[in-house]
Amino acid sequence: MERKIHDMSVAGELMGDFSKAEIEAGRRLFSGPWDFVSAAGSLASLPPMTAPEIAFAGRSNVGKSSLINALTGRRALARTSNTPGRTQQLVFFGGPDRLVLVDMPGYGYAAAAKSKVAAWTTLIHDYLRGRATLARVYVLIDARHGLKIADDSILDTLSQAAVSHEIVLTKCDQISEAALAERIEAIKTTMRKRPAAFPDLIATSARTGAGMEQLRAAIARLMAERAR
Ligand code: GDP
Repeated sequence: MERKIHDMSVAGELMGDFSKAEIEAGRRLFSGPWDFVSAAGSLASLPPMTAPEIAFAGRSNVGKSSLINALTGRRALARTSNTPGRTQQLVFFGGPDRLVLVDMPGYGYAAAAKSKVAAWTTLIHDYLRGRATLARVYVLIDARHGLKIADDSILDTLSQAAVSHEIVLTKCDQISEAALAERIEAIKTTMRKRPAAFPDLIATSARTGAGMEQLRAAIARLMAERAR
């Protein structure tokens, strides 16, 4: 039997493990060049469905752009800015092996105009419901704050549409290991009531790189399962 990798950090132990081969497959999947493909502010302007897509959703400022940049090793691929202008679009990035990453508009931005919020909320939810090539959505949650009411509607839509999804904790470098372990347990308990969601979660830090190997491996595993 293949030896399993055990990360000794709290995050690693609780996040489920991957074989050495899967970690390597994840590394390879993300080692090639990644580039901007297109941005869509409406359903009509979405790119054609040509390759599996992995989307990243979360409240504004959750660390979504930083995570995408850390995953792809491209420092400024996704723009890490809090100005809610460009981030109202779905942004598509293409990499090697026909995998597409989708940076979704951040939600819950308090200062945004109501009409705009309504427009991009509709876009997000329509995309999640109707995208046949959408392989999985990672819902990002700030480790310091945990699940918030603003996260409920996206989780509801994902459940209703039966889209594979999983929680990714961000900014785990900002809390102690004990607090992280507690946070993970609390989220797992809440998520157990949502059977369509993956029961595990991945704890990450774009700043330290923690959890990146696991997230890449999880995506590589998903790609391998789909190719079967
Ligand atoms: P987005 O709005 O979700 O795309 O969030 P950004 O990626 O722009 O990040 C929002 C803020 O959180 C920025 O100030 C980042 O530097 C910070 N941030 C993002 N990821 C991390 C992380 O892993 N650790 C820490 N400490 N800060 C982070």
